[in-house]
Amino acid sequence: MGVKGTDRRRMRPIDDERFWASVQQGSDDACWSWQGARSPKGYGKFRHGRASVFAHRVAFALANGAFLDEFPQVDHLCHNPPCCNPAHLRRVTQKQNGEHRKGPPKNNTSGAMGVTLFRGQWRVRVVHHGRSHFGGLFDSFDEAKVAVVALRNQLFTHNDHDRRGADVELEVGTPKNTE
Ligand SMILES: [Zn+2]
Repeated sequence: MGVKGTDRRRMRPIDDERFWASVQQGSDDACWSWQGARSPKGYGKFRHGRASVFAHRVAFALANGAFLDEFPQVDHLCHNPPCCNPAHLRRVTQKQNGEHRKGPPKNNTSGAMGVTLFRGQWRVRVVHHGRSHFGGLFDSFDEAKVAVVALRNQLFTHNDHDRRGADVELEVGTPKNTE
C-alpha cells in the first residue's frame, strides 16, 4: 500500500494544492468549474506528471482519500462536465453510467425515454438488464410519461435524473413513426 492521494502505479503524489487552485470552488450545492484545460467534451484535464487525467476523477480521489486508479469511472450527478465538486460526483460501473444517461436515446420516437406510440396509444416500456418491462398503454402522453418514470424508478437504482423529476420536462415531440 502506498500513500493515499497518490497515483499508485507511479507512486507520484497528486499535487492537491496545484489541483484545487484550478477549481473555482463555491457552495456545496454549486458546480465547481475547472479553470484549466478541457477535453473536446468539456471535461477538465489535469496534468499529472507526463499524463493528463480527468480533473473530476482527481477531485473525487482527493476528496475520498483514495488512489487515482481506484476509480476509473466517475460520474457527474449534475451532468456538467467541467464540474469538480466532489458532492456532485460518484463512482460508477459502466452499466450504471448507461442508466444515468441524460435524455432520450436517438432511436426514441416520442421524445420521452421508454414511451412509444403503439396503435394510437402511448406504450410504456423500459428495458432493464436486457429484459423488457411493460408499463401499460395510455391515451394521454402525460400519463405515459408519469408511468415511465415510476416504472424506471422501480427498476433502476441509479437514475437520479428521473428522481429529480427533470425527465418529465422533456419536450413532447411529434412521433416520427408508429410500430
Ligand atoms: Zn456540478
